[in-house]
Amino acid sequence: AKEAGRDAVRFFDPAMEEAANHKGQILGEMRQSIFNNEFVLHYQPQLDLSTEKLIGFEALVRWKHPKRGMIPPLDFIPIAEESGLILPLGSWVLEQACLEAAKWPANTYVAVNVSAIQIERSDFLSEVKAVLQRTQLPPERLEIEITESVLMTDQTPAFSFLMGLKEIGVKIALDDFGTGFSSLSYLQNLPLDKIKIDQSFINLSDTDDKACAIIRTITQLAEALQLNTIAEGIERNGQYKLLSELGVNSGQGYWYARPMPAEEITAFIEGKKAL
Ligand code: C2E
Ligand code: CA
Ligand code: CA
Ligand code: CA
Repeated sequence: AKEAGRDAVRFFDPAMEEAANHKGQILGEMRQSIFNNEFVLHYQPQLDLSTEKLIGFEALVRWKHPKRGMIPPLDFIPIAEESGLILPLGSWVLEQACLEAAKWPANTYVAVNVSAIQIERSDFLSEVKAVLQRTQLPPERLEIEITESVLMTDQTPAFSFLMGLKEIGVKIALDDFGTGFSSLSYLQNLPLDKIKIDQSFINLSDTDDKACAIIRTITQLAEALQLNTIAEGIERNGQYKLLSELGVNSGQGYWYARPMPAEEITAFIEGKKAL
């Protein structure tokens, strides 16, 4: 117990302590689970909006917890980033995604999410090269998704990492575009291939004129800078039609397909071909 002044933070807050315990527990379990093969990747299809053809998949990690079931990434990625566990986890994700993608048709790619910490604290470029070598996936069939947070702290490691990727032919997408602060200077300075328009705009695109205007402007900007665009979180046919009219190049979302386990991909591709 502590002498609590008028504005003092309560020393013993049961809710806070519970939250901290919970976090500690998750962390302990996560350390173990990397070795127990409890992580799985699901893959969400991406399509070209003008041809409606499948072009690739985004790899999204899930934790198949033996007792608590499937845990979504937002419940453990932040803890993994804070603790550094994102390093082994992220390495596993990259290798697994490239292994899978090497089995897919040659005209498809896999997009992999990468955290800032992976770029700052490891020689991630060498790792990417080694994984491509081991899995025999052509570099053009790998896309790395980064967010602005990668560029927030020290831009130097991020910049040389991205230049290195560019040199070997790996594609780079800027994720969650429109939600950060200084996006425009990044578009000017970084070797990007694609802008991923954040799903918050897509979500409102068919009902809110302002969201629609923002998407239109991002698309025109991307076109002027010779960057590709992708819309994430397309849920309705009306949104798809609108985005395609606005000239957004590609998209993904529940409207087209939900993320699926690797075992379902072949059937999905065959089903699409039959259309
Ligand atoms: P994100 O990269 O922005 O991924 C898009 C999220 O939107 C995914 O959630 C996806 O399942 C979801 N989504 C797709 N289509 C729709 C739709 O039509 N409507 C709605 N409402 N949602 C849709 P998920 O799989 O829960 O992933 C959440 C976030 O976790 C990702 O956001 C990404 O930031 C992070 N994440 C996932 N996998 C990895 C990973 O391997 N490494 C890292 N560092 N982060 C990851
Ligand atoms: Ca992403
Ligand atoms: Ca995103
Ligand atoms: Ca996001």
